[in-house]
Amino acid sequence: MILDDRDMVECPITNKKIHFSEFKQVSLPKVVVNCNHCGTKVSLTPRNLSINGLGYVCSECLNFVAFKFNGHFYQPRTVMNLKWNKDMKRRGIQIGDELVFTECKTKKDNFILRILNMIAKEENLGFLTPNLEVHKGALLIDRKKEKYIGYIFWHWKKFKGESSVKPVLNQIFVVEDERRKGYGTKMIKTWVENIIEGRSFVVEEPGIEALKILVKLGYAEVNGEKVIGKKCSFW
Ligand SMILES: [Zn+2]
Repeated sequence: MILDDRDMVECPITNKKIHFSEFKQVSLPKVVVNCNHCGTKVSLTPRNLSINGLGYVCSECLNFVAFKFNGHFYQPRTVMNLKWNKDMKRRGIQIGDELVFTECKTKKDNFILRILNMIAKEENLGFLTPNLEVHKGALLIDRKKEKYIGYIFWHWKKFKGESSVKPVLNQIFVVEDERRKGYGTKMIKTWVENIIEGRSFVVEEPGIEALKILVKLGYAEVNGEKVIGKKCSFW
């Protein structure tokens, strides 16, 4: 509202001037949660919203105190519980008894992909953020342990001089405590065989771990000090 020099406000309906102190103060309910890392009280207001918009961050320790999805607040552990997105297990490709690899198709799937990508970026700032209008993701779930193990994301690109689009693998990520168990290999193998249906593909800036996986699966080979793509090429 706009006050005049005597702190009076003109009512838009009656055009009568009244002093602003006669307006009733209405306060909106504020949601406050305790940071379970450091105990600080954090209000779920725009000031504490994370830059990526996924949720609210404790100003003291930068821990996420709540995620915001579809206008609702959720405890981080609720969102990361498989029950929050329970049909994901049913929709995916079964790998053995324990694992399910599911393409991200729903808003919830993509929300989880973005959270896991945020964890990946905390370790490696150079990691790309998926642009969900371009990139497609898939999540690996362990149904026995009831947890998300990792993800990959890719996009389809038409290269110069080629008539059709080619899949480009952009990123592989496995959560820290599940590494060196062959999950990256399982994701790539399932992606190649089931999702891109055996096409040759491009890998964007593969790191050492990715190159090892590609060699192990026979998609690339070691030639002296170099790794040469067979089924894949590098970008
Ligand atoms: Zn905190």
